Amino acid sequence: MKNIAILTSGGDAPGMNAAVAAVIKTAFANNIQPWIVQDGYKGLITNQISKADIKFADSIVSRGGTVIGSARLPEFKEEKVREVAVKNLKKLKIEALVVIGGDGSYQGAEKLSKMGINCIGLPGTIDNDIVSSDLTIGFDTALNTVVNSIDAIRDTADSHNRCMVVEIMGNACGDLTLFGATATGAEVIATKESPLTKEEIISQVNELKKRNHRSVIVAVSEKQFNAEELAKEIMQKTGYDSRHTVLGHIQRGGKPTAMERYWATRFGIYAVEQLIAGKSALYIGLDGNTLVGRDIESTLNAAPKDRTQEYDAIRKINKGV
Ligand code: ADP
Repeated sequence: MKNIAILTSGGDAPGMNAAVAAVIKTAFANNIQPWIVQDGYKGLITNQISKADIKFADSIVSRGGTVIGSARLPEFKEEKVREVAVKNLKKLKIEALVVIGGDGSYQGAEKLSKMGINCIGLPGTIDNDIVSSDLTIGFDTALNTVVNSIDAIRDTADSHNRCMVVEIMGNACGDLTLFGATATGAEVIATKESPLTKEEIISQVNELKKRNHRSVIVAVSEKQFNAEELAKEIMQKTGYDSRHTVLGHIQRGGKPTAMERYWATRFGIYAVEQLIAGKSALYIGLDGNTLVGRDIESTLNAAPKDRTQEYDAIRKINKGV
């Protein structure tokens, strides 16, 4: 193998750059020429594929987002569109590709593998919603942003004796909310996999008010409630002065944490090692402390993690029952 390419696809996530850098450096260390594809699968079609160098790799490790860009390209589901990608790669004698992204990106990678390009997927998303990896690139940094934000919100909530509704990202996965609430002592937690009704939230805030809690943080994951309306209803029904904050895209950016860079680098090295070993259509996941490669098809159908006990335990202590 003489050439490998790398692209980032789907939602951007801090740490993607560290993984890109590791792929470039591991390739050079093994006498392979690395190539950068701009803007995900779109760049394969528009031929935005260029040689990478070590200086570039060294300059991006600490930067947030993805410096090589990401874009959605729904047409990549069509075989004719993918054929253009394969043709462009083969023209440059690129036989292998590392794809950093989520489940959608893996589906593209799996299909490319069947068309003669060896592909390895790395988990890149702040949501931690890739069930066959304990950790995704981006989660730790986003989690730290959530925790710093809730800490700041707690300061003002304590000062004014308020209840604060905080809406946290995560798509359909509650990990950012659960981990963030755990690390900040948020009293009320509602996510898609462990939901609370509006009435249950109000009743929990009422209970806390009766116990003279100086402040209450209601941590809710996105796509469940209108945070502003929820805060208003809490105020009306509990008398607790309430406000809301939607953390939004601040969670997607920022300098990757040390742990993020560490795992992203390990993921990147491992991906190139798998390609050198002739593997294809694999997705790399963290299992405990070990990196594993599993075939993409099986990972797409894996059952979500059951965190019921974690939710129960954290709710119990944070409500002070
Ligand atoms: P993520 O990778 O974060 O899940 P998306 O679902 O948006 O993000 O997928 C990213 C890109 O992967 C899409 O824009 C598309 O180019 C490609 N993709 C998604 N699903 C498929 C599929 N079923 N077949 C081929 N390519 C796909």
